[in-house]
Amino acid sequence: MMLIARFADRGLRMQIALVFGTLVVMLSVLLSLAFGELFKRRLQRDAGESLQMVAENAGKLLANGLLERSREAEVLASAEVIWTQGLEAPEAQHLLARSQATRPSNLWIGVADAQGVVRSATNGMLVGQSVSERPWFKAGIKEVHVGDVHPAKLLEKLLPPLASGEPYRFVDFAAPIRLGPTTVGVLGIHGSWEWTREVLESLTPPRSDESSLELFIFDREGEMILAPSGQTAALQAAGQRLPEGLHINNNRDGGRIDTAVVRWQDQQRYLTAATQLQPRNAPSDLGWLIVARQPVELAFAEANRTVRMTLAMGLIAALLASALAWMAARRLSEDLDALANAASAVEAGKPGADIPAVYSNREVTKLSVALGRMTHRLLAAREAMEEKVRLRTLELEAANRALDLQARTDALTGLLNRRGFETQMAFGLAMARRSGRPLSLITVDVDHFKRVNDTYGHEAGDEVLRRLARTLEERLRGSDVIARLGGEEFVVLLPDTDLAGAQAIAQAVVQAMADQQDPVVGSITVSAGVASMRGLQDNGTDILRRGDAALYEAKGQGRNRVCVEA
Ligand code: GH3
Ligand code: MG
Ligand code: MG
Repeated sequence: MMLIARFADRGLRMQIALVFGTLVVMLSVLLSLAFGELFKRRLQRDAGESLQMVAENAGKLLANGLLERSREAEVLASAEVIWTQGLEAPEAQHLLARSQATRPSNLWIGVADAQGVVRSATNGMLVGQSVSERPWFKAGIKEVHVGDVHPAKLLEKLLPPLASGEPYRFVDFAAPIRLGPTTVGVLGIHGSWEWTREVLESLTPPRSDESSLELFIFDREGEMILAPSGQTAALQAAGQRLPEGLHINNNRDGGRIDTAVVRWQDQQRYLTAATQLQPRNAPSDLGWLIVARQPVELAFAEANRTVRMTLAMGLIAALLASALAWMAARRLSEDLDALANAASAVEAGKPGADIPAVYSNREVTKLSVALGRMTHRLLAAREAMEEKVRLRTLELEAANRALDLQARTDALTGLLNRRGFETQMAFGLAMARRSGRPLSLITVDVDHFKRVNDTYGHEAGDEVLRRLARTLEERLRGSDVIARLGGEEFVVLLPDTDLAGAQAIAQAVVQAMADQQDPVVGSITVSAGVASMRGLQDNGTDILRRGDAALYEAKGQGRNRVCVEA
């Protein structure tokens, strides 16, 4: 989860580079492992084939050697001309010596009589001694015999020590000497076991060679009878037998290669091939197994090197792929960055901010164009909305003003109502107090107005009220405030006008009304009271009350007149 969150925090370029890099690394690891495995198998087969070949060649050479020597014994035994002169005749001695000279690895060639007593031998060795109990004699008296390798018994003390320091070992060859139907003796050859070593060493590369190929011979029972480089005695002592798990190629299954990786007695694993010695004649069928081995690490060294190299190349390829992906993602990430920045600028309302069109690839172009269009529409919609709100606000303000006016205006006469008058009264008082100039008011009331209503109807009464309003407007200045306080009572506020001035104006109004003749209701009179502000402490309510009192006084004095406050 943590990893995913961290991954999500990374930039697009890093993400793409990471994904590509990981993919290529995985791919190269898989490929190099698979390739290495394949290569290993191939190499095992190839190495196995060459091991097998070496083993088989060794087998052939050894088989040939055994055949030749058994023939030699046979040929020597069949030299009747010599043997008729007696087994110890000088000719016999001579024959044996000559024979040994042609093949020095035949360390001993001798002739025993039918009783097993040596009669002639190379260098006169063992002459006169009995070999009747020796296997080669027992077998050789009957037929041609090849005896498996064995340590020297009688000859050990007679021969000079071997250069390798190992004890003498022989392979015996024997053949019966017959004169007509009678078997008169046995010809025996003790072949040095060293020749097998020479054969094997001629087939294996020198020990310094890095392939470390080694050849071994095991006998029919699986006993090791020859190891390279003089290790035979040591390995025998360590109990090295034919390793288990080995397929023996006895050449009867059509040259099938059987190579196996097996653990030898030293606990090392070796690629191992084995082949059975193919005898050239019946006596030399010793059942030897020729085994070739090579340490697994060496056999597979090249495969491992190749795997490592493939892996290294894969990692380099991964790095390159990441770098390429990083570069390829640059345009895309730059475009996305530009879009994001532009969107932020638009959001912040920067003047002239707009979504740019970007072209790094089809999808991003589409996205940028769509974003641009959407932004324009949103901006346009916002502007339209703002305009609408502005208009609505203006309308609302006008409506509010109209309502306010309505609240302060009398519907019948169009004059201020009581509320409107009170505002003006407060304003007029403040102005008068500040300027120290006089402020007066006139209260006006229609005389016997009830009668008008009663006689001519309410409509006619209203008309009288409107006419009084027009008369007041005609008679007064623009700076004067005229209001209808209710019913048929009116009031006039006169700034900059003293009591006498106000009285004069009131008189003129009363007169003007009395002079008017209405076609329906005839002459209608009004009465008026006059009052003025008295000092700074005087207030509107008091002045109006005093005006009312003066009006009341005028009514009391008979109406159609003006009275001034007491
Ligand atoms: P006075 O000379 O003592 O003032 O007598 P008056 O009849 O004028 O006085 P009063 O206050 O008794 O009567 C006022 C009448 O005014 C009562 C009412 O019917 C009438 N009136 C009040 N307001 C209106 C109005 O808006 N229109 C009409 N037509 N009549 C109104
Ligand atoms: Mg009245
Ligand atoms: Mg009245």
